[in-house]
Amino acid sequence: MTFLTLILAAVIGLVPAPVEYSPKTCHTSFRKAVAELEPWQQKEAYRLTIKGKKVKIEALTDEGRFRAQTSLEQLRALGELPQGTIFDYPRLQHRGLMIDESRSFKGLVFLKKQVDAMALLKLNVLHLHLDDSAGWRIEIDSFPLLTEKTAFRLGYTYHQWEAGKYRFSTADDPSAYGGYYTKAQLRELVEYAAERFITVIPEIEMPGHSMEVGYAYPEVLCTLEDDTVCRGAWDLCPGSEATYRLLEGVLEEVMEVFPSPFIHIGGDEAVMKTWPDCPKCRALMKREGYTSVKQLQGYLVRRIESFVKAHGRRIIGWDEILETGVPEDAVVQSWRGVSGGQKASASGHQVIMSPNTHCYYNYYQDLIRKEPKAVGELVSLRFTYGYEPLAPGMAPEHLLGVQANLWTELIPTPEHAEYMLYPRLFALAETAWTPSSAKEYKGFRKRARRLLDVFRARGYNTFDMDTESDLARSGLQRFPPEGQPIPIDD
Ligand SMILES: [Zn+2]
Repeated sequence: MTFLTLILAAVIGLVPAPVEYSPKTCHTSFRKAVAELEPWQQKEAYRLTIKGKKVKIEALTDEGRFRAQTSLEQLRALGELPQGTIFDYPRLQHRGLMIDESRSFKGLVFLKKQVDAMALLKLNVLHLHLDDSAGWRIEIDSFPLLTEKTAFRLGYTYHQWEAGKYRFSTADDPSAYGGYYTKAQLRELVEYAAERFITVIPEIEMPGHSMEVGYAYPEVLCTLEDDTVCRGAWDLCPGSEATYRLLEGVLEEVMEVFPSPFIHIGGDEAVMKTWPDCPKCRALMKREGYTSVKQLQGYLVRRIESFVKAHGRRIIGWDEILETGVPEDAVVQSWRGVSGGQKASASGHQVIMSPNTHCYYNYYQDLIRKEPKAVGELVSLRFTYGYEPLAPGMAPEHLLGVQANLWTELIPTPEHAEYMLYPRLFALAETAWTPSSAKEYKGFRKRARRLLDVFRARGYNTFDMDTESDLARSGLQRFPPEGQPIPIDD
């Protein structure tokens, strides 16, 4: 690729920007053009030749043809048909979005609509956070109480539920908030996504963030010496066989619904508060010769990993799984900044980068006074666009991909969720697809602004780029002290 084709690629309207665009028709064979690429890149590579009103698509697979069609669809929606040749393929294999359906439940129509958006942006993984303390969202036949007892709660928002002391209810209670996906609905989603070459990866959280599981099935909770059950505990008991019967039963049904090569098993933020005093946990520690309760998490992760592996799948876990001896095959998802990704790569693991510093789209995208209540530091469009997923010291072959995460404690409605995602998801898509050498913010901002109109015309509720503050436009991460000048260079 030449400097000229790189510059031109960013001139046409596409998001993500393609690898190459030339105003001339290209005559070399397509097979030859992709010969040097990795097999997974060849699968998605395409060449789009536009001459007058005639359009020619070249690709090795249906997936490649589909990526070409989404480019064409985007160009047509922008009212643009650039003459010449677009040659394009992805930078990274895993280009994802995580949606948290536990803290607030948005339903099938919403998810399909986001799948449409993802397809247009050439994203290829939808990661569904299907359970957490605030509600279980997937029908499980062998453990029906999970949805019967915890898919509905008292408190429309997460914080109302929290203020009301975490009370659950049932579907027939008109004052209850909640819902869950039936297996038929999830199969429909998996199929809908697959038609758009998007894989849906389910996440079943363990052993932390699991208060709802213990509410439905108290036998998975720790006990005290006198057999008192630790009700309301945040973590599952890693020393109880009942925990493994439940988790394996659940995962078996989950794997029947989701054919994805990966199953996400959470693994983050276990507080381990009940473990030191639980006789079952202590017995396991003694048996295994453990000196710290933290090692119990490692035991659980390894045991679940071998179960998942025996079913021909691989696990993904949040970066905490690195701390207690992670199985070789596991993929680590770095969320507490980038250090988890660096450590995982150093120990030979594949990595998905979704650092909260850059890829958490539940964080503020503009000034606190201007935006709905959100979390954390400023993750403006410009700041998230500047993210480079290959962290210093990381081996490129370990970088499986990059992902945006949308946690929904403060995001109760579909409209609000879309507002947080667009246009920031455009930036994530370009980081995931376009070569880093071809990324350039000013041009991207113009393309994103135009694409945002297309999204609005298609009924998405988006952030308003025209009212973006100087601070957000500056690309600073932190909110500066009041009265301090903000440097702007565009
Ligand atoms: Zn225990």
